[in-house]
Amino acid sequence: MFEDEMVWDLSQLVRSTDPAVIKDELSSRAAEAQEFRRKYHPEITNLDAEGLKEFLEAKDAFTLRFEGVLKYCYLLYSADSTNSVAKDLHQAVRTAEVKIDQALAFIDIKLGELLARKPSLVQEPPLAEYKHFLEKILRRVPHMLSEAEEQLTITKDKNGVFAWQILQSDWLTTRAFEIEIDGEKKSLPYGKIIGLYQSPNRDLRRRANQIVYENLGRDEILWASAIRAVCDDHLQMCRLRKHSTPMSQSLIANDVDQQTIDSLLKTITKSVDLYQRYLRLKAKLMGLEKLSNYDLAAPLPKTPEMKYNWREARAEVVDAYTEFDGEIGDWVDEMFEKRHIDGEVRTGKESGAWCASWINGKSAYILQSFNEKIGDVYTQAHELGHAIHAYLDTRSQKPSNLQIGSCIAETGSVFGELLLTERLLKKAKTKEEKQAILANVWDEFGMAAFQVSARVFFEQSMYDAIGQGKFLDGENVSQLWVEARNKIYGTSVDWLDVMKWEWTMKVHYYMANYRFYNYPYVYANLFVFALYKLYKEEGKAFIPKLKRILAAGSSRSPRDLAAELGFDIREASFWEKGMEQAREFIDMLEETI
Ligand SMILES: [Zn+2]
Repeated sequence: MFEDEMVWDLSQLVRSTDPAVIKDELSSRAAEAQEFRRKYHPEITNLDAEGLKEFLEAKDAFTLRFEGVLKYCYLLYSADSTNSVAKDLHQAVRTAEVKIDQALAFIDIKLGELLARKPSLVQEPPLAEYKHFLEKILRRVPHMLSEAEEQLTITKDKNGVFAWQILQSDWLTTRAFEIEIDGEKKSLPYGKIIGLYQSPNRDLRRRANQIVYENLGRDEILWASAIRAVCDDHLQMCRLRKHSTPMSQSLIANDVDQQTIDSLLKTITKSVDLYQRYLRLKAKLMGLEKLSNYDLAAPLPKTPEMKYNWREARAEVVDAYTEFDGEIGDWVDEMFEKRHIDGEVRTGKESGAWCASWINGKSAYILQSFNEKIGDVYTQAHELGHAIHAYLDTRSQKPSNLQIGSCIAETGSVFGELLLTERLLKKAKTKEEKQAILANVWDEFGMAAFQVSARVFFEQSMYDAIGQGKFLDGENVSQLWVEARNKIYGTSVDWLDVMKWEWTMKVHYYMANYRFYNYPYVYANLFVFALYKLYKEEGKAFIPKLKRILAAGSSRSPRDLAAELGFDIREASFWEKGMEQAREFIDMLEETI
């Protein structure tokens, strides 16, 4: 049904969809990148303010010139990797991009050298629009190695930390798990068996968890070796790059400071009883004495089956946004009208969902696999929030100011989910419907704010242990995980013994050069809950404020953005505002009983 509307139209991105024309453009891009290097590599470290401005504008213009062609190649492939034209163009774009990355790798290093010599450039009036872009580079300068050392790092990482990451992922995705479903023995890959964690059948959920973690625990030697090597490599690189703590690299990448993250995590630790209160309430709604770990992601037993076809989903989401703001509602509708969303389910399509902004079009493209479930409508609301972010920031910012860090990137999307929640709650006819909606809000929030915080504590404790010269074998790592987990859950949940191996499957712990990936999720969720609370207090007066935050792109730090709303994100009181909103959702849920 609605096939034509559910397939995106990528032709808007390019002059011609003829693969030969597209390949020609990729060649022009490669040639222009070389030309760009020839022109600027020798002179960049001598530029004055006007010269630097001209350089940055040329860099932005280069980004814009080929944006459509690059997007076209990547998006076409993500929608159907079995299509031969898509495969061919994807191969072509990847080969071309490696060369272009190499040719342009000098930009960051040379800009760093220039700013290290003349830090006052950051304050120069001609560079006002690039101020924060340059500030961020300046912050990285003390931690940069020489050009030769950086190249050496890239080479050794390929067979070092990246190899551990690939091993962990390959091992996990090639396991087969034996499980009996409805009297039938099945052998499922990891990606399939974890789908059973949300089954309404409690015994099946328990067995799926037991089987997965029992199997993972059997290979503890492998997981421990991988996690130890990845963490130790990080500590060594921190020393070489003169980072004061294992977290500081990620603080720079996320454009935040230690005090802010300390306040954030302190608020989480102080509020664990709120999460535990929700978990006890969920147990009650499920008719259980106490939740077990395999109930955490489970739906409530009386959740009514709600189905939405494409047009019904569109109407819900457009209305949810329109009730908030007419202009935003129109943009959301335009995303459907111009066919910028690929919702059709097909083989060869990338799993999951995402939104890619399109700077030249001042718009975005969304990929999802739409299965008519309420979760798919939420995904749509989430991704469309990212699209609104793109509509606003591409209208106000230069391309250099569109590199939004993880703490702010989820602002529009999580806010959009809350708008959908508000609409669904208003329309809910039965108390079971209301309970399902509110439990979903807290299941998600509990995961993103609290469970994820346990991962931050865990990661920190591994660096502490290595720093103290402790050898991390499988059992030692498990002990650290259980301690971190219990800080959050206390005694509110019963855990299967094998859950001590939970750290073995979280891909992120093994990701090379990507440490402490986790607290931005905590940040984003509490930040948006605080914004939503403010919206409830201020009503329509709040709307331009949210638009300003989204329109700022990465031109201002998260701290400055919050300051505009009158908040200091270094203070715990700001984060507690988000927690108050979370408490209100529990109160609403309690009232339904
Ligand atoms: Zn998102």
